[in-house]
Amino acid sequence: MTVRDDLRTAVERLRATVEPAARALHADPETADEELRAVERLVGVLAFHGFEVDRTLGDPTAFVARTGTGRTTVAVCLEYDALPGIGHGCGHNLIAGAGLLTALALAEHAEWLDLTVLAVGCPAEERGGGKIPLIEEGVFADVDLAIMVHPVPDGIRLDPRGTSSQAIGQFLATYTGRAAHAAAAPHLGRNTTDAVVVAEVALALLRQQVPADHRLSANVVRSGSVPNVIPDHATIELECRAWTTGEYEALRGRVARCLEAGALATDCELAVEPVGRPYEPLRQDDVLGALWCEALAELGLDPGAGVPLAGGSTDMGNVSQVVPALHPWVRLPGVTASLHSPGFAEAAGTDAAYDVMTTAATAMAWTVAAAAADPDMVSRLRLQRQELSR
Ligand SMILES: [Zn+2]
Ligand SMILES: [Zn+2]
Repeated sequence: MTVRDDLRTAVERLRATVEPAARALHADPETADEELRAVERLVGVLAFHGFEVDRTLGDPTAFVARTGTGRTTVAVCLEYDALPGIGHGCGHNLIAGAGLLTALALAEHAEWLDLTVLAVGCPAEERGGGKIPLIEEGVFADVDLAIMVHPVPDGIRLDPRGTSSQAIGQFLATYTGRAAHAAAAPHLGRNTTDAVVVAEVALALLRQQVPADHRLSANVVRSGSVPNVIPDHATIELECRAWTTGEYEALRGRVARCLEAGALATDCELAVEPVGRPYEPLRQDDVLGALWCEALAELGLDPGAGVPLAGGSTDMGNVSQVVPALHPWVRLPGVTASLHSPGFAEAAGTDAAYDVMTTAATAMAWTVAAAAADPDMVSRLRLQRQELSR
């Protein structure tokens, strides 16, 4: 038996413990910063398997579970937030499950692989960026490599080498106007719905003057109440994305002008506040990426087949700016529904999805084991971490 065989056997055995937890997450979705029941479920399994669990971080929906005292420290990142009204349309139940399986399997081999294993509970990936405060609290300070895996629809290329995810910032824009009777005194009103319309038109026009890979999205959270009152309050939530931080900042400046145009044209007041902090682009570690591709090939998947993801963002980007990191994908076979759709939420809860979760965990465990067993690789990761922290 090789260590690979051992890890694979461990993952398959541990599935009986982990799959019910992942299924419970899927059946009971909680949105960003609300994931208290998910955390209870996950730390319950980790504590039962001998991990020391720290829940004293600033965020009650975050945790760090630790085991082993080895030379190489790996952080396996678990996400578990769902989307409002959609549930696990991003498949974070599978991310949590795959991460849990990987952490538990590696923990059983921690001494042999000279590993310290952290399972990091990362809340609010969809909104607000839960990993960012964890970085600031020093959770990743002694970590040599960080890893997680994300499910995607079928047909997506799985080779993470040379890929990234987009920088993103999210904002709330609030217009304040003046209410008035819509028939008796409309001229006394200052109409915030009109401010939103002007801003939306300006944003729509801006889309054709920016590079095709930039993304602007807006959702009207609230605008007025009834048609016979000129609305005096409106809120839009926006996000903008680009592949580099510089491009993102330039785009953000142009979006601000569109919002100002709405206020200017309608004589309303505008206030803009950020939702969390920007997500940074993802630095995929190419050497870890090569180990991941090797693992997938051995597990019968061709990592080069398929098309790249067109866009998307993750706060794992921020982690990857301070620690060597890998954030690859696994395909749900036969699934054509887009991420963030009810169809993908349904697909993330099938027997086939939990098979994929298990395969992904084996591939992650193999990737970490291959890195940890190679002293040159460990030195390289450590050197790279030092360079990133400068
Ligand atoms: Zn998502
Ligand atoms: Zn996601």
